[in-house]
Amino acid sequence: MWDAPCTKERSPIPELPEVETVRRELEPWLTGRRILSAALVDAQPGPKYANLKHAEGQQIVRVDRRGKFLLLPLASPDPQRDGTERDVLVIHLGMTGVVTHVQPAAHERVRLTLDGRDKTTLHFQDVRRFGRFLLLEEGNPAALPTLAAMGPEPLADDFTTEALWRGVRGREAAIKTLLLSQRPVAGVGNIYADEALWRVGIHPRRPARQLTKKQVAHLHGAIRDVLQASIEAQGTTLYDYRTVNGEVGAYLEKLDAYGHEGEPCRRCGTTIERIVVGQRSSHVCPTCQRPPRARRKQRPTRR
Ligand SMILES: [Zn+2]
Repeated sequence: MWDAPCTKERSPIPELPEVETVRRELEPWLTGRRILSAALVDAQPGPKYANLKHAEGQQIVRVDRRGKFLLLPLASPDPQRDGTERDVLVIHLGMTGVVTHVQPAAHERVRLTLDGRDKTTLHFQDVRRFGRFLLLEEGNPAALPTLAAMGPEPLADDFTTEALWRGVRGREAAIKTLLLSQRPVAGVGNIYADEALWRVGIHPRRPARQLTKKQVAHLHGAIRDVLQASIEAQGTTLYDYRTVNGEVGAYLEKLDAYGHEGEPCRRCGTTIERIVVGQRSSHVCPTCQRPPRARRKQRPTRR
């Protein structure tokens, strides 16, 4: 067993598998519930908590996920409104966001009162305030640029090898930085980017344009595999993430690269190194993931 990496870095978690785990837990609880009231608790009104009053009286139709965002389409009881037009409640857990029916001791930001007989209060607790809990009117994704610019869902049918190839081909950026941008594919964060790249032996700093189509095909498979396996284990608990029922995820022990610096690579025995790529800490095996050749240093120009 190795030290919990949370002592070394507070990773901006949760990532997609953790959010998907939360989504699956919220679904049976929230689907079909009417929101009787929506209130800010220990929070200032602002873009992170926009339009929440509009949720009052509306019914939660589904609990969806897009990347690391939870999306709850709402049905308005107002007969004047077209049934196809729906507001969407958007929840982003940030680093420390928790959605729960249990009254938190502190740092509660949003409280929803729901109809029904049990679990009639939803509390959104967020210690570090990086999370968001807001309503998008008419579900207009343009109102949230991150959502509008996001690439395909990694586990959906439209995320094909071809789609990833189109997203990375010819790009100068380091492959890991490109993955974290959410544009070639949604929902890949620091942990799972490191894991997928380790699996396929691609160095995170490698410029995307240097990858062959075959490598991109392998990477596509690895991204899906690590995310799927982590969802099955209810995610990775590093620091604050908990499932709705307060359980910790079990994927932590299955990580091969992330958080393993100083330990032997599980594939070849070389010591895993921690490097910085695009200002994010990254975990690589220098043998399995050969670094890109350094560019020839330019001579300083004389003035
Ligand atoms: Zn190795």
